[in-house]
Amino acid sequence: RGAHVVVVGGGFGGATCAKYLRRYDSDVRVTLVEPKKQYTTCPASNWYLGGFRDLQDITHGYGALKDDYDVNVVHDMVTGVDPDGRTVRLAGGESLSYDRLVVSPGIDFRWDRVDGLDASTEERIPHAWKAGDQTRILRQQLEAMPNGGTFVLVPPPNPFRCPPGPYERASLVAHYLQQNKPRSKVLILDPKDGFSKQGLFEQGWAEKYGDMIEWVPGSDGGTVHRVDADSRTVFTEQGFTEHKADVLNFVPPQKAGKLAFQAGLTDESGWCPVDQQSFESEIHPGIHVIGDASIAGAMPKSGHSANSQGKMAAAAIVSQLRGDEVVSPSHVNTCYSLVGPEYGITVAAVYRYSDGSISGVEGAGGVSPMDASSGFRKQEAHYAKGWYESITSDVWG
Ligand code: FAD
Repeated sequence: RGAHVVVVGGGFGGATCAKYLRRYDSDVRVTLVEPKKQYTTCPASNWYLGGFRDLQDITHGYGALKDDYDVNVVHDMVTGVDPDGRTVRLAGGESLSYDRLVVSPGIDFRWDRVDGLDASTEERIPHAWKAGDQTRILRQQLEAMPNGGTFVLVPPPNPFRCPPGPYERASLVAHYLQQNKPRSKVLILDPKDGFSKQGLFEQGWAEKYGDMIEWVPGSDGGTVHRVDADSRTVFTEQGFTEHKADVLNFVPPQKAGKLAFQAGLTDESGWCPVDQQSFESEIHPGIHVIGDASIAGAMPKSGHSANSQGKMAAAAIVSQLRGDEVVSPSHVNTCYSLVGPEYGITVAAVYRYSDGSISGVEGAGGVSPMDASSGFRKQEAHYAKGWYESITSDVWG
């Protein structure tokens, strides 16, 4: 029987890798460990918040991986890794031995860097930066918000999952408010002085929402210093200004998912250093780290990046198991954002591995043009929905 590869995490990176290992070499036995029976995607979760996509339409199961690709899917949590003995321990008590291990645990939050919030305040002050219950709670709070209220959104510092995500969220919350509570306001208190596709977002906000969305950069008092969870009040650094929120969506600073720390795969940055050709850990040989948890050169932390890395890690593992040379991969990432249901903008890039790291290929990417016609924006919104259908069927279909 062929080699056994255990993949931990059935999100964008892990589910892709499990499927493509089986596609690239049907002799390889693959076990995917993921606690959830149903995975709700963060991509398109802002569309749900905007009121034009159901949560069940962005929720996917593991039936196709089991039935069509013969992946052994185990719904359990990995609690420890023994890199020398090549085994993983499951919360259920079982151990699995592996020839190679792939880890795609996503992100965790740096609550220690936030004064006034921690994991126990998540229900009152949702981040909704892992989709599912958190997204539902945020939507319920938005529905309960009074007309004329303030939705305060606090984006995280770099690096974090989905660089345009907070600004798409602000847009689609404004869309919902414009339709339902038009006297309300979205206030973004940002620790940063700039963000992804900024010019395009700001143009879209002015066109569609007038002055409903206000963005305050870090250097102008946007950095939040402390939060009072009970009164939903945030205090910003400069002059300790208070902002009272009706809904507070605080997205904490981020680090690699907990398992990456338990397995000793992180460095002092809180993320996992890897050989950027094969995604094999620089700390523990035989373990590959992909997706948001990995340090992947110029690639952003996105579902599309994780999908691309899942395929490349699968190809590298199959080559290593056969004793073949590992190829130098190219990757692609596209991040669509909706400013409104019919208003899409994009950033796209191609990346290449060379000289030890992944960097962007000059001239091969770009962003949507400024000042485009409404027909152009509508077409991009249509492409965004097509992107979602095709990537989710590539990962879970
Ligand atoms: P995840 O998809 O988070 O998967 C990690 C999985 O590991 C989880 O299912 C978890 O249950 C499992 N797990 C964790 N620990 C263990 C353990 N110990 N044992 C077993 N399993 C474990 N990206 C895009 O490309 N396009 C977009 O439009 C886009 N929109 C976004 C919008 C929002 C609001 C947000 C928050 C993100 C968005 N993203 C988007 C980013 C995207 O969601 C992430 O980059 C992507 O999910 C990363 O994939 P991953 O495999 O690293 O982690």
